[in-house]
Amino acid sequence: MSTSTPQKFEFQAEIKQLLDIVIHSLYTEKEIFVRELVSNASDALEKLRHTQLTEKDILDDKVALEINLTTDDQAKTLTIQDTGVGMTRAELVENLGTIAHSGSKAFLKALGEGDQKNTSLIGQFGVGFYSAFMVAKSVKVYARSWRTGEPGHVWSSDGSGSYEIEEVEGLARGSKIVIELKDECAEYASDGRIKEILERYSAFVSFPINLNGKHVNTVTALWLRGKNEIKDEEYNEFYKFQAHAYEDPMLRLHFSADAPLAINALLFVPQENTERMGFARLEPSVALYCRKVLIDAAPKDLLPEWLRFLKGVVDSEDLTLNISRETMQDKALIDKLGKVITKRFLKFLDEEATQRPDSFLKFYAQFGIFLKEGAAMDFTHKDQLVKLLRFESSLTDKTKSTSLADYVTRMGSEQKEIYYLVGANRTAIESGPYLEAFKARNLEVLFCYEPVDEYVMNNVREFDGKKLIAADHADVKLAEIPKPEGALSEADTKTLTAWIKESLGDRVTEVKASDRLVDSPALAINSDKFMSAHMRRMMKAMNKDGVDLPQRVNLEINPRSAVMKRLFETHTAAPEKAKLVAEQILDNALISAGMLEDATPMVARMYKLLESV
Ligand code: ADP
Ligand code: MG
Repeated sequence: MSTSTPQKFEFQAEIKQLLDIVIHSLYTEKEIFVRELVSNASDALEKLRHTQLTEKDILDDKVALEINLTTDDQAKTLTIQDTGVGMTRAELVENLGTIAHSGSKAFLKALGEGDQKNTSLIGQFGVGFYSAFMVAKSVKVYARSWRTGEPGHVWSSDGSGSYEIEEVEGLARGSKIVIELKDECAEYASDGRIKEILERYSAFVSFPINLNGKHVNTVTALWLRGKNEIKDEEYNEFYKFQAHAYEDPMLRLHFSADAPLAINALLFVPQENTERMGFARLEPSVALYCRKVLIDAAPKDLLPEWLRFLKGVVDSEDLTLNISRETMQDKALIDKLGKVITKRFLKFLDEEATQRPDSFLKFYAQFGIFLKEGAAMDFTHKDQLVKLLRFESSLTDKTKSTSLADYVTRMGSEQKEIYYLVGANRTAIESGPYLEAFKARNLEVLFCYEPVDEYVMNNVREFDGKKLIAADHADVKLAEIPKPEGALSEADTKTLTAWIKESLGDRVTEVKASDRLVDSPALAINSDKFMSAHMRRMMKAMNKDGVDLPQRVNLEINPRSAVMKRLFETHTAAPEKAKLVAEQILDNALISAGMLEDATPMVARMYKLLESV
């Protein structure tokens, strides 16, 4: 077959070094060589497609653009053939004999920086074509350029220092790489094994891939196609395939951008939040591609933590296959990519919220918790996230919610702060003692039902320049409103509060007359600066340290209430009984506040009080 004698070449020194490491490494994920070779084939086909746009004279111009893999488990060979641009003799020398290309260069550079022969670097950088030598006894590359008039050649090497090139007749356009496998790597000559690897890494290569004559990549790179030409069903099928889901997605965002980075992204929100259903914490799973070739199916550091519910694909031409999170430059690139995508997704949610509020609220019911997490922890996106939060409030109907922006539009000119109350549900908050003072002053209070809300509100701190304040906080100062007739005098009130404090002793930190009570006789306020009542409850539920600390409670009394007027009379007339009443008032207030921790003393006391009726 050969028309010339083979010519022998020495590999460049760097390539020798690289091959030495690749061949002798015990790198465990050897299967990535398939990805590397398929991606080279895909690149070559892509280049041909571009060449076809500008050149008329192309060899085998009518031949289909495809990738064919064949396995032979008897001969222990794997062959990867493509109908791409191929290579001339000079290109074989240049591309496969020198360190001209990026990935391997970066690999060597990283090796040079550290002194160790760190095999994990192979995985981080990929070593492109040379990765074949992890599994090969010998590699033969049959190549014929698209340029008419160029003969075909075979390049061959066992990876030990040198390679040979020989002219070959009768080759079609493109490249064919024949790998004679090492005995211990015979698995890569099995149809099943290669199929599995192709599904994993190359499912979305946009050229047909055939394995032993069977087409394997049925799903195309949907995200690179125009939105208008894609049907809903296609999107849904793709989502199910990619996210291993059984239902259609709840929301979908397909977008592309050219600046600051070239991005094609197709993102999905699933129907359900499985974390909310009690399943394990979600793992980030938006896959990262570079020109249709998978770089990482689950990049940890692409998107912020709170977006871990997102599924889909991000493809950027600005990345390289061999992107490494170890180098500062690539890390910055990934960061930037993540920021662009996050910003775009937040804009999308904002549009949903304004244009399709029902759809947004359905999303919020499942995934709102992630937005809260982001609002509390992700400083970069906090402002956009806080805008998306929704709460019921004292002014909304049951199950209807409001945004903070809408709350602000309803604030009177006097109101400087945004108030909220945390409680188990609407009834619990409405029947508690805190709300009435705000209602009496026409102040709206947001209702927070989720255990994380308190933490979120504390971290968010303010919105639109207005502080977020817990309505049950001891420091809340409310404007005076006209006092109803018939209250205890100021002097009597003073006497009574002093007496109650003395009677209750250490159970309360402070007793004072309240300006926030309208109907209720008394109210208990947590006065612990470091632990809110709600936090304390949660810690108790989780049995954490700190719950044995004494509770710090302020008792506020309502000098207008009949109970207090009666108590003022009894405290001198029947001090024993009055003391029991004072204790009971505190317990009642603690119950309303959800702060009563031990109800047993109450039972005996109640019987004593009942005796005296
Ligand atoms: P990279 O793909 O990062 O450039 P590789 O080591 O994978 O690095 O490949 C080295 C070079 O060899 C490629 O840049 C390309 O020019 C050439 N090459 C590899 N495989 C093929 C192929 N199937 N067809 C044409 N050229 C190829
Ligand atoms: Mg490559």
